[in-house]
Amino acid sequence: MSEKFTGNFTQQEPIPEEAIEAAVAVMRSGRLHRYNVAEGELGEAALLEQEFAAQMGSKYALAVASGGYALATALRAVGVKPGDRVLTNAFTLAPVPGAIASVGGTPVFVDVNEALTIDLEDLAAKLDQAKVLMLSHMRGHLCDMDRLMEMCDAAGVTVIEDCAHTMAARWNGVLSGRQGAIGCYSCQTYKHVNSGEGGLIVTDDEDLAARMVMLSGSYMLYERHLAAPAPEVFERVKYVTPNISGRMDNLRAAVLRPQLRDLEQQVVRWNARYQSLEDGLRDIPGLTVVERPEAETYVGSSIQFLLLDWSEARVQEVLARCADRGVELKWFGVPEPTAFTSRYDSWRYADVPQLPKSDRILRGIIDMRVPLTFDLEDCAQIARIIRAEVGVVYQSAL
Ligand SMILES: *Cc1c(COP(=O)(O)O)cnc(C)c1O
Repeated sequence: MSEKFTGNFTQQEPIPEEAIEAAVAVMRSGRLHRYNVAEGELGEAALLEQEFAAQMGSKYALAVASGGYALATALRAVGVKPGDRVLTNAFTLAPVPGAIASVGGTPVFVDVNEALTIDLEDLAAKLDQAKVLMLSHMRGHLCDMDRLMEMCDAAGVTVIEDCAHTMAARWNGVLSGRQGAIGCYSCQTYKHVNSGEGGLIVTDDEDLAARMVMLSGSYMLYERHLAAPAPEVFERVKYVTPNISGRMDNLRAAVLRPQLRDLEQQVVRWNARYQSLEDGLRDIPGLTVVERPEAETYVGSSIQFLLLDWSEARVQEVLARCADRGVELKWFGVPEPTAFTSRYDSWRYADVPQLPKSDRILRGIIDMRVPLTFDLEDCAQIARIIRAEVGVVYQSAL
């Protein structure tokens, strides 16, 4: 009998007890709205922002309703207007082009390479087409950030970082989200901290920070923030910045604060699981492991490998055989978008370009979540199953 995996790929860990208690306290108080605070009280949302700014080493931080909202807010703050073109990754998730579309912008997709990062050559060729790059560190893969920032700075292109999968990751020791003008994070259940929905934003630029606070729907209560610029900065923006309501509430903030304190510890646990999977996937004929650069400190909350230049039928066969044995793999080459997986050519509200280089990579990307509810033996077992099934299909097709 061949072994079968019985774990659940979408089951996250429970919310820590400390966070549950903090959430219950907020509910007992009835003061869930972030600006509904008692005399002298610092609300959970304001404290979350203060702590997140300290953790990320940023001057300013803002908590909002979702990661996608964070991205759209960042685009508005840097001045993207209807009709503007915005560079972004061909390999990303639907909320990224969606955020660009939400401000009336037009995504200009840049190729993905075998490292699953933005192709810097293709970026160089397209840098003159837009003033803003929304850089998505999709599935936690960081490109050469030093080189990218050099290129964008030289071209006068503002970088917004989508760090939905890189909260706590680093490039050459610098935390992800701290090189671009603005860093955006998601606190949705499948990311690195879990409040169901939620987003965080960091920046060192006081004008951008003040605009984003106003945009998020602060009314004129910005002085209740603990990680926002001084009131005189708001004087410059408060009459000309619309309120596009998307605040975070005290309940979610209470749930997040203890999780952020545990984040570095969780990264160690994720990476041990990632390592076990990666070790188990090495040296399988036909399967390409995505090598992680030395300069990158990643968070292994998901793992990808490539079945490059395999036919659709063979990939489908691998997926079906693995699924039969309890291993749920996602394929970015699937012609019809399913669940969370879609491709640049699924987003037909945008101009769909010809990107043959990306098509080849996307057709090869197999993706798997690594929830912390898996232990190391689970990971080793999953890798054994993938090895066996990739092997069977690879050999049968030769
Ligand atoms: C999840 C995700 C987002 C958006 O986050 P939400 O909180 O779900 O709105 C943006 N970019 C990427 C790459 C994501 O995976």
